[in-house]
Amino acid sequence: MQRSRLPGKWMICGVTFFIAFCGFGTNGGQQSTRMWQMAEAQTLPSSVSMTWMSVTNWFFDMNGVKIVTDGFITRVPRDNGGAPFPPDAAAVQRVLDAIGGEVDVIVTGHSHGDHSFDTATWARLTGALVIGARSTCLQAMAQGIPESQCTSVEGGEFFDLGNGVAMRVVRWNHSGDINTPPGVRLQAPLELINPPVPDPVNGGLRPSFLTDFPNGGGARAFLFSIDHPERQLHVFFANTGNAGTFESPRNVDERFFEEHSSIPLDSNLEIVTDTISARAHLEAAMADAGIDSVDVWLGIGFGTTSGSSTNLARFAAHIIQPRAYIPHHWDDFRAPSFFDGLTRAWTNEGLAEFWTSMSVPFFIQGQYMDKYILEPSGITFDINADVKAALGLPDVAVIPMDTASRIEADEPECLCRHDINSQRPDLPDFSASR
Ligand SMILES: [Zn+2]
Repeated sequence: MQRSRLPGKWMICGVTFFIAFCGFGTNGGQQSTRMWQMAEAQTLPSSVSMTWMSVTNWFFDMNGVKIVTDGFITRVPRDNGGAPFPPDAAAVQRVLDAIGGEVDVIVTGHSHGDHSFDTATWARLTGALVIGARSTCLQAMAQGIPESQCTSVEGGEFFDLGNGVAMRVVRWNHSGDINTPPGVRLQAPLELINPPVPDPVNGGLRPSFLTDFPNGGGARAFLFSIDHPERQLHVFFANTGNAGTFESPRNVDERFFEEHSSIPLDSNLEIVTDTISARAHLEAAMADAGIDSVDVWLGIGFGTTSGSSTNLARFAAHIIQPRAYIPHHWDDFRAPSFFDGLTRAWTNEGLAEFWTSMSVPFFIQGQYMDKYILEPSGITFDINADVKAALGLPDVAVIPMDTASRIEADEPECLCRHDINSQRPDLPDFSASR
């Protein structure tokens, strides 16, 4: 790959292809192309599976390239307050063992505690490269991960992950209504300046403090393109987002932010404003990939009927044009243990109604480790019983009847003003990172 290193086996794989190509190449033009395609078809596994590991944590196996998104497995007690809390490395190891023990790349969509909290632990246990915001890399460095094992991205980067898998980074926005003080606090694109300082006693960072876990300058979404003998497959992953700043980013008044969040920006935090909208970033990535639709959009599912997930879907659906949608981040990331499995019932009828009205198949998970097989013809569900059994999870979660009444929206609702920028600044140039 161009921008970053992957473990040795992928380099070896690339060398194998190269040798095969060179060998056949001596036979002349037409034939060498045919032989090369045959060699490629025989060598590539050509399969895509996506396993939902709670919240916005996924395990992808894309043509044999193993990718974890976010990977938040530790559960922080509800009454933790702002106390430093160490990652549950044993829990991460148990999940890692259950999915086969190997990960090549960890992509982290943003740097809040319910997303990047265990990124460093996954990196340490697997040796995998981390790709994420600057804040994600600084958090990992604070936990002992070498700087060289994390590549910080701003959006507009192209990664060749090997085995016919490409990834484009899309600068994205964070959820929250910017018209309210809590919404500004949630959504302001905040980055760390230096690594946060772990607690000297337990080595933990403070999971619910923006001073340790800011969102990382909004968020990063990832567009995966996977070679397949029939046609290329495309998966879009975004772990947050909102409609209010999708069309045009809004500058955050630093004084307003400090007044309403009690967070000083002069210490180790800065607001990183982006002049390019999430929409423009998305359009640039899709144009670079040469597509006007994706096979599946893994997107947010929290909120209620008029909530932020549905609003964002309304704004972005006509650009992404997914053939299927799988919501995430609608479960309870504050449950006592990952190994309790899914403890919350799906209730976002607004989002379900939206996709139904668009005639887009919509999958709702029944348990952690539910698996989806993506093929050119569509998505097949796999109950993934062996992996669930290894984690002590029943195949389908048994959810208490009163769960629905206890659910509140995780994010404030969005007022969704449509101020579309008529003037577009320079778009990201994906070719710069090739
Ligand atoms: Zn967040």
